Amino acid sequence: MGKVFILNKEYAIGWPAPLFLILMLELGVAGITYLAGGTEFTFTHLMYIPIIFSAFFQSLQGAMLAAILGGFLLGPWMPVNVELQIEQTPMNWVLRTLIFMIVGVVVGLLFQHLKLAAQRQIQSSFIEKNTGLPNLSKFRLEVNHLTQRQETFCVTAFNIANLYYLNAHVHYLVGEQVVLKVSETLKNTLGDERVFSIYPDTLASLLPGCTVEEACCMSKRIIDSFQETLLIDGLPVNVDLKCGILNYPLHAAETDQLFQKLDTTLRQSKTVPGGVVIYTDAFLEKRKARYDTAVALYNAIQNHEFSLVYQPIIDLHKHKIKGAEALLRWRNETNHMGPDEFIKIAEDAGFIHQITKWVIENAILQIKKWEEVGIISKIAVNISSDDLKDDMLTTYTRNCLEASGIDPSFLSFELTETVFTSNEKQVKNVLERIHAMGIKIHIDDFGTGYNSMIQLVTLPISHLKIDKFFVNYIDQDNYRAVIGETIRLAHNLKMEVIAEGVETEEQMRQLSAMGCDNIQGYYFSRPLNEHQYAEFYKEYSVKEKI
Ligand code: C2E
Ligand code: CA
Ligand code: CA
Repeated sequence: MGKVFILNKEYAIGWPAPLFLILMLELGVAGITYLAGGTEFTFTHLMYIPIIFSAFFQSLQGAMLAAILGGFLLGPWMPVNVELQIEQTPMNWVLRTLIFMIVGVVVGLLFQHLKLAAQRQIQSSFIEKNTGLPNLSKFRLEVNHLTQRQETFCVTAFNIANLYYLNAHVHYLVGEQVVLKVSETLKNTLGDERVFSIYPDTLASLLPGCTVEEACCMSKRIIDSFQETLLIDGLPVNVDLKCGILNYPLHAAETDQLFQKLDTTLRQSKTVPGGVVIYTDAFLEKRKARYDTAVALYNAIQNHEFSLVYQPIIDLHKHKIKGAEALLRWRNETNHMGPDEFIKIAEDAGFIHQITKWVIENAILQIKKWEEVGIISKIAVNISSDDLKDDMLTTYTRNCLEASGIDPSFLSFELTETVFTSNEKQVKNVLERIHAMGIKIHIDDFGTGYNSMIQLVTLPISHLKIDKFFVNYIDQDNYRAVIGETIRLAHNLKMEVIAEGVETEEQMRQLSAMGCDNIQGYYFSRPLNEHQYAEFYKEYSVKEKI
């Protein structure tokens, strides 16, 4: 365990004030006894009051002193009967003094014990149990002391970026050992009392009088010392350590501001190579801008700022339009962001569900709308991995399909391979329910993620979409080989292939020669709004007939 850091400031009350009060009380009791006519006429037990009082303020010593003094004040000079001048026998007052002392010892020890227990409780509330280091509350207290005294200092916070991974995928005991190892290194380099455990994966140090440059040098040395793989119980472990640095008063004028900025700096340190980041105002501005975008995005549905565009997918065997991929667009006065960017923001902020629901509902309405004017076109919508974490999507889609009356096989869901990195069993269950409803499942950007062959065999997948990255380099042997093998694999598994990002006739020709079933890309058409798509559909259908 670490040191005891908190001093009993709140509990240690100086001697003079209580001593004077106790003396007054004892003299008061003695005075009352005398005026009442002697020990015969009054309760000498009143003297317990100042003794207990003294035990509370000054524990054992105080109680003993009060007991002896009380004993003497009611002792040799205090008559049994003042009027008749009957004196006490020495045995009488000595015995009383002894009883006062016994009570003083018992009460004094009791208060002493209670105070120690309370102190220990307070001390342990400032200690983080695993590392034995002072915790966030203690860190705040220390930062507060320094800012109140307006002393210059640096805070360096070290985040173990892969701790979650180690705890979840290796073993929590390994995670604990890594935290202990980092805390030992920090204590050895910076000094025992300067290191704090502020979050489960973050240790901070407080460096009074230190400049940003000095803090940066020290932090780099510490991070470098973790470049080599550690051996924990014979297991090789890499520690991904990041560091954020702030200076008072350079970066923050008071404690709350400093903590807010420390948080921002730590987040930022996770995104830069090298891992040591010194706070700059640009971080906060960037975070604020992202927050504003998230709020605007959240309101985009009510504000009617979303629209869908449709990119045709062409069936190479039948030379027909197979359908379209629905791609989301967001337009308002200030934002002209692409879906790659704003979908990520909605996923991080946790409201991608609402957006996906909007896309599904509108895609279904569009299928119906086109059907009514003779355009028979399937639509594929993009689904985020977060959408598959519960059954909400399946229920919602079923309701929309039932309300519209369209054939569910006109709808397909495009999923990237990232969905398989989360809860596999849950994803499998949801996908099976989607498949049972008659909706087709496409694997998007195939070959760019972490797919396993097991998922290809066990999940109800109908189409693989070859990413434009491969199509772009189709003239190179290696890329052509990957495309060829993907097509063969898909066909053996009774799946169809869609090649994305086809921009030239040559790419289309080569894909067709390799047996690719469908293509999508600027060669045929860019994404179109619903009216443009209807025009394209009609024109293409005429071409088919010629
Ligand atoms: P994606 O699903 O891979 O969509 C294909 C992207 O490639 C689209 O970009 C499309 O405009 C673009 N593209 C199509 N043909 C070509 C081509 O020949 N050459 C090139 N260079 N690009 C081509 P977009 O519309 O900017 O969408 C980007 C990504 O945003 C999509 O990638 C998808 O992951 C995501 N996204 C779009 N709409 C939605 C949506 O409604 N929900 C979700 N969750 N994600 C969406
Ligand atoms: Ca897609
Ligand atoms: Ca794609």
